[in-house]
Amino acid sequence: MELNNIRVVLVNTSHPGNIGGVARAMMNMCLKHLYLVSPHRFPSEKARARASGAVGVLNNAVVVDSLAEAVADCGLVFGASARERSIDWPSVEPRQCAAQVAEASPGTPVALVFGNETAGLSNAELAHCNYLVHIPANPDYSSLNLAAAVQVVAYEMYLAWREAADSAAVPHTGTTASMAPEKGWASMADLEGFYTHLTETLTALEFYDPDNPRQLMHRLRRLFNRARLDRMEVNILRGILTAAQKAAASRNQASPARRGGQGADTV
Ligand code: SAH
Repeated sequence: MELNNIRVVLVNTSHPGNIGGVARAMMNMCLKHLYLVSPHRFPSEKARARASGAVGVLNNAVVVDSLAEAVADCGLVFGASARERSIDWPSVEPRQCAAQVAEASPGTPVALVFGNETAGLSNAELAHCNYLVHIPANPDYSSLNLAAAVQVVAYEMYLAWREAADSAAVPHTGTTASMAPEKGWASMADLEGFYTHLTETLTALEFYDPDNPRQLMHRLRRLFNRARLDRMEVNILRGILTAAQKAAASRNQASPARRGGQGADTV
C-alpha cells in the first residue's frame, strides 16, 4: 500500500472552509495529494483557518478545470456518493475500497473523488470512476459533511496501510487470486481514448445515435470501468474497433443509401 499514490479529488467545492477541513483530515491520515476541480473559491483565508496545521496540503493542492484532468493518470478511481442513482454503479464500502487501494496503489496513482456539497457527484462525473464508495449511514439522513466523508474514507486508507505494513513482516502465503495486469493497468486517459473511439465506431455502425443518446454510452462506461482493463486489453478492444470501422466504411461504399440497422433501440 502506497499512501503517497493516493489523491483526494474535490469536485466544484462551494465552501472554502470544507477544503480546509479536508486538508486537515488528509494530513491526520498521512495523505498529501489534494486536487481541486473548479473550486468556487480558492485559495481562501477560510480554508487556511480550517486546515489548522495542514496548510502544506493546501499549498500543494493542484487546481484543474475538469475531473478527467484530475484522474487522467490514475489506474483506479472511486467516487464517493451518498445517493441512490437511476443507473446503479458498482458500489463498495470504505473498508473494501481501502483493500482495493492497498492492492493497486503500489503500481498506479489512485483517486478518491468527492462531490459538491449540494449536488454531490453527477452521473457524468461518476462516469470517470471505476466504482462508487458509499459510507453506510442513517438511511433517512445519509449525507455527511464533505470533510467528514473524506475523514472516514481516509481513515480506512490509513488502517489498511498499517495492516499492510504489519503483514509485510510476515512471509506471503500466496493465497490471493489477484491477476497481474499485462503491460500495467489502463489509465483513465487510456480509457477516455477508448470511449471516444467506441463512440465514433458505434456511430459509424449506426448502433449509436448521438442525437438520441439515451443511456447507452453511460452504461458502456459502467461496464468497462467495472472491468478495470489493463493496457493490453484496451489495445485489443481498440484493434477490434478499428476493424469494425473499416468494415463499416466498405459497407457504406458498397451501398451508400443504406440506413437504419438494429440500433440501440432498447437501451
Ligand atoms: N446532497 C449531496 C451530498 C453532498 S455531500 C448528495 O445527495 O449527493 C458532499 C460529498 O460528500 C458527496 O458528494 C460525497 O462525495 C461525500 N459524501 C457525503 N456523504 C457520503 C456517504 N454517506 N457516503 C459516501 N460519500 C459521502
